Amino acid sequence: MNEKPEILALFSQGLDSILAIKIIQEQGLRVQALKFITPFFGYEIKGQESKYCEKIKKNYAIDLEIIDLTNDYLKMLAAPEFGYGKNFNPCLDCKVMMLTRARIRAEALQVKAIVTGEVVGQRPFSQRRDTMRRIEKLSSTDGLLLRPLSAKLLMPTRAEEEGLIDREKLFDFSGRGRKPQMALADKLNITDYLTPAGGCLLTDPGFAKRVRTLYQHDFIPSASDLELLKFGRFYPLGKADEFIIVGRNRLDNQKLLKTATSDYFIIQLTERAGPVTVLKGTETQLPEAAEKLCLHSKAKELKAVKIKWQRDRENGEFTLKRPNPTGNQP
Ligand code: SF4
Repeated sequence: MNEKPEILALFSQGLDSILAIKIIQEQGLRVQALKFITPFFGYEIKGQESKYCEKIKKNYAIDLEIIDLTNDYLKMLAAPEFGYGKNFNPCLDCKVMMLTRARIRAEALQVKAIVTGEVVGQRPFSQRRDTMRRIEKLSSTDGLLLRPLSAKLLMPTRAEEEGLIDREKLFDFSGRGRKPQMALADKLNITDYLTPAGGCLLTDPGFAKRVRTLYQHDFIPSASDLELLKFGRFYPLGKADEFIIVGRNRLDNQKLLKTATSDYFIIQLTERAGPVTVLKGTETQLPEAAEKLCLHSKAKELKAVKIKWQRDRENGEFTLKRPNPTGNQP
């Protein structure tokens, strides 16, 4: 964006956030959008931020900036002030963190409002009117935070009061129904957007359980630990920062090989194809990891299996002796 933005907006690529931005752009205002990413949401963009921003500009005429919240987010997740939701999702702390970062950016850019696609009553907790107010207060965004889709049901923001934004052209959507949004999308010719499902991995019970395991004993996992957790079978070891992951299929194997950095052992069968196995731990745990690999491979009935391993520039081979193959291990 060459000219200074007048409004900042949070962007998820979901329909509501696109509509909210379009409503403001229709009033002739320059909008700068922000997208936050962490290993739990939006991380597929990591490393390809410019390409993604170009795509968003081309598809929606929206100027986008990506902010990676990973470091602060992973610390917050250890002990969120307002606790967790049903799984390991710290929704209140998460929203407050995003809006606080947006406010700081808004102050730097000297914009008059922060726009979100929130709709009153759409989510049972986080989009309840009282929770929305509470989030505003906690992130010091009261008077600044504008929800164009529900604005007529909420107190006017400063940008409305000062006449920068015409409140009459905003909306009064509420509840879980999607019809008004779909009708508006048709009117604005918006057809390409992400569905609301599939957003945040911390709401996925299986993944959340793995993450919770890593967070035990005051350990804060790294972004690459969390990336690895997305693939394969997960076996926690004695300490929170020690685990084994065994690929389940070709895609898992490719992802594990790509994601396991120099901190991890990569373990494979020497003489036949089999799953890629990743160990975060010590060299003494290699046999345990190799055993897990064997149990999920064609070597599971063998009494002796040749194994190769690699970690950064180190590598080696050994023969795993298996007195009780086929899973009948003690
Ligand atoms: S679902 Fe995930 S991204 Fe959404 S508010 Fe909760 S923790 Fe944050």
